[in-house]
Amino acid sequence: MIFKSNYDVIIAGGGPGGCIAAKECAEKGLSVLLLERHREIGTPVRCGEAVGIAGLLEFFDESHWIVKRYRKKYKIRFIAPNGTVLDLNHESEAAVLDRKIFDYELGLMAAKSGAQVVTLGNVTGLLKENDFVVGVEFEHSGKTFKTRSKIVIGADGIESRVGRWAGLNTTPKLNDIESCVQYTMSGINVESDRLDFYFGKNIAPTGYLWVFPKGENTANVGLGVNGVISKNKKAKLYLDDFTEKKFSQGSVVVSTCGGVVCGETLEKISVNGLMLVGDAAHQTNAISGGGIINAMKAGRIAAAVASEAIKSNDVSCKILSRYDKKWHIKQGKANHKFYIIKGIIESIEDDLLNSITEKLNRLPFEKRTLVNIFKHVLLKHPKLILELPKLFS
Ligand SMILES: Cc1cc2nc3c(=O)[nH]c(=O)nc-3n(C[C@H](O)[C@H](O)[C@H](O)COP(=O)(O)OP(=O)(O)OC[C@H]3O[C@@H](n4cnc5c(N)ncnc54)[C@H](O)[C@@H]3O)c2cc1C
Repeated sequence: MIFKSNYDVIIAGGGPGGCIAAKECAEKGLSVLLLERHREIGTPVRCGEAVGIAGLLEFFDESHWIVKRYRKKYKIRFIAPNGTVLDLNHESEAAVLDRKIFDYELGLMAAKSGAQVVTLGNVTGLLKENDFVVGVEFEHSGKTFKTRSKIVIGADGIESRVGRWAGLNTTPKLNDIESCVQYTMSGINVESDRLDFYFGKNIAPTGYLWVFPKGENTANVGLGVNGVISKNKKAKLYLDDFTEKKFSQGSVVVSTCGGVVCGETLEKISVNGLMLVGDAAHQTNAISGGGIINAMKAGRIAAAVASEAIKSNDVSCKILSRYDKKWHIKQGKANHKFYIIKGIIESIEDDLLNSITEKLNRLPFEKRTLVNIFKHVLLKHPKLILELPKLFS
């Protein structure tokens, strides 16, 4: 593989955030090097693979990586700690992806757009000059390279080191880290047109357990618990307790684990010569833990700002911080609200959750909306009203 000594943009990490950034930078005529440390883009998969269709449609019409499409009026079921079920009235559409194919195809798209995509390219450090990031050091085929670029985009996921190397404080609070574990199970009895969410201190304290069907008798079954809880009882033990009771006949065909930062976007996501996107910038939805679409949105904004900055011959944080601002408008503000709501949800005791679910179940289906759930929580838990101003601040 031949590398140029200088690129417009070097991207560390070939997940959805990095691939979209690479694709869109290349489409804008920039020279791009995308470095992914694994031997294949798209593996290993560490994901529940669920996305909202609206977010996906912002990027593609294609759908061959969708293994299961949940059209309007598919069921979303909440299962309270005492087993009461509540089918939610909602208008959304969702999909479960095959991320192996999805991420791989995003990598292909980046390459077809003109980016140089390199697997087994492990970024090991940043090159810096006069308080600017001016490139990366990376390993490939047993050799070390020092390659310059006008801008580096750190898209290296939850374990991001690029941000730290750039001097950003990327350490999340322990209770904002969800430790997640998931089994893809087959031979289990699941309703294929329904996404299930289980709640309760014994099932997934501080988080939730998901059952996302991928097809006939097959589903991603996973959960997340925060870092404080998982110190005492590992997420895997919670999942084993659940699957042994609920799906004892099933087979685990894939098991995966990983962390998700369910916090707020980092205060600063750009410095001179560098931007951070996706999980590396803590851009996931704090309630759902979903980060695929957000990473892609961030990658798109970063590409646009990179192009503006390079055209204007100024890659200082004065220009790159436009990325911070645009992200905040596009998604960061909403994520801030999700973070506050997450705090409210976490403070709800099982008894309250049971009684709200029972009460909402007595309402006609049309009234069983997320907004009504939230209203009932506030009615039963008036102290939480004090938190509301934060939502609008
Ligand atoms: C168990 C689990 C379930 C989840 N379920 C969902 C879900 O259902 N829906 C959803 O939307 N989100 C889900 N997420 C979150 C989602 O996977 C991430 O938010 C999303 O992948 C973020 O994309 P990204 O591009 O920022 O990072 P990633 O997809 O993590 O990609 C980062 C890439 O950078 C590479 N890399 C890291 N360091 C280096 C380096 N030094 N040099 C070169 N390459 C490097 C990594 O190998 C990786 O390929 C889940 C996460 C977990 C752990």
